Order: sequence, then structure tokens, then C-alpha cells
Amino acid sequence: MEGAAGIYIGCHLSVAKGYEAMGRTMLEFGGNTFAFFTRNPRGGKTRELDPEDAAALNALLAREGFGPMVAHGSYTMNLCAANSQTRANGWVMLEKDLARMERFPGHFYNFHSGSHTGQGVEAGIRLISDALNRAMFPGMGTTVLLETMAGKGSEVGGSFEELREIMDRVEQRGRIGVCFDTCHTWDAGYDLAGDLDGVLTRFDKVIGLERLRAVHFNDSKNERGSRKDRHEKLGQGRIGLEAMRRVALHPALAGRPFILETPNDDAGYIREIRQVLDWME
Ligand code: FE
Ligand code: FE
Ligand code: ZN
Repeated sequence: MEGAAGIYIGCHLSVAKGYEAMGRTMLEFGGNTFAFFTRNPRGGKTRELDPEDAAALNALLAREGFGPMVAHGSYTMNLCAANSQTRANGWVMLEKDLARMERFPGHFYNFHSGSHTGQGVEAGIRLISDALNRAMFPGMGTTVLLETMAGKGSEVGGSFEELREIMDRVEQRGRIGVCFDTCHTWDAGYDLAGDLDGVLTRFDKVIGLERLRAVHFNDSKNERGSRKDRHEKLGQGRIGLEAMRRVALHPALAGRPFILETPNDDAGYIREIRQVLDWME
């Protein structure tokens, strides 16, 4: 059963107080899913995982009818960097993150494909898929999600075609999908405001909508195609409130966890969660 209002909605939370604490915080926020960084987003350090805390969170999620969590890999992880030490650091992070996620079977782990830093897109795609094939394993409980990117600098994953090429090389076919970030997709040039159906049809043709497993639900500070990646609060950016509402209500996206990554304090997230739930009524 989906959330009472027919959508899973939540925001990023900090894991600093533990895992079950995030579930309780999201209950207070009025949502029914959430995201968290598996390690300090800039630094790369992890929090020790207490198995009892993990079990308590799993029990809470089941009891409260939460949708899948969307854990987010570190920004410092660049699996396709030109620098071999940076790449190797990324492999270690990915392997450890996926091992830790086995405490939460059935949930999602999303990460940024990275930047090829001058090697070219083809080389980037090969390095990313090689890294995934090293770290993913038969019988794993987590589905790994590639995030749609804004395509700034030498970022890989700024087009549906690039994501598809990575996915085609991944051996664990059933455990790879996409996290659709509305700000990034807009900044990459896809017209979510003017032609949502066209964008989703395009996604379906290139990747397949069944592989779109989660949404990062953000407005954008910049115009379409700007390749900037600056998130904005719902309705205060260039995508606009009405277009964001159409995304939330689109039947092709029903049942996916929607994660707010908007520049907000707690009160702002609570308001946006309420706003999205109001749309569903
Ligand atoms: Fe992200
Ligand atoms: Fe995102
Ligand atoms: Zn972003």
C-alpha cells in the first residue's frame, strides 16, 4: 500500500543521531520516506552502523508504511575521475556503502555518476560501469540508482542516453535504476515545465519508465539548459509551482519516493511536505 495520500514524500535528513531517529524525525515532519547521506557529503567519513539501530529503523518503516529510503552516496565519490587514486577511493566508498546498505534490504542507494575530467564521456561510462560491476553482487538487497545530472563541466549522466549506456553495461540488471532529479533534468535542458509528457515519453523510449525508481523533487534557480545545478524551493524557481505539481501528480511517477532537496530549514521542509500531500487530495 502506498502512503495514505498516494505518494511517498520526504526530504534529506542527517544520520548524526542514528538511523531510527531519522524515521522518527520524518514522522514528525509528516512524510513517509527520506534520504540521507551515507557519509559526510563533503568529507567521506561514515557513521558506525549499530545493527540494533538498523533493525529498529526497519521495524519503524514497516509499521508506519514508509516508502523506500533513498540513501545518497558521497559527492566526493568520483568513479570516473582521471586520477587513479580518486577512482580507487571511490571504489572503496561504493563497496562499503553497498555492504552497509544490506542492513536495509529493498531500499535504494543513489549516487552521482561523476565527472570524466577530460577523458571523454565514453571513457567515463566505461569506468563507472566497471566500478559498479566490481561493487554489486548477486543477491544484493539494494537497488542502485544513477541520478539524472545537470551536465555541468565534464559530468557524466546529463542525458538519458548516457545513463542508458552505463546501465547497459551493468551485470546486475535487476538492481540498477534511475533517480530522476527535477532540477538537474531541467538544467540539462529537458522541458519539465512546457512538455512533461514529452520528457517522460523520451525517458521511457531511452531507458524505460519502470527503471525510474525515485525522484529528487527540486525547483531550479536557473533557466532550462543552464547546466548549473542550483536547487530552489518549490515554486520559487524557474520550473514553477504548477509544473512541479504536475510532476507530483503524473501517473507515470506514482508510487515512487519523492525526496525534497530544496534549500530549506526544518519548518520549510514540513511546509513543502504538506504542500505535496495537499496536491494529492
Ligand atoms: Fe544528488
Ligand atoms: Fe539530487
Ligand atoms: Zn543537485
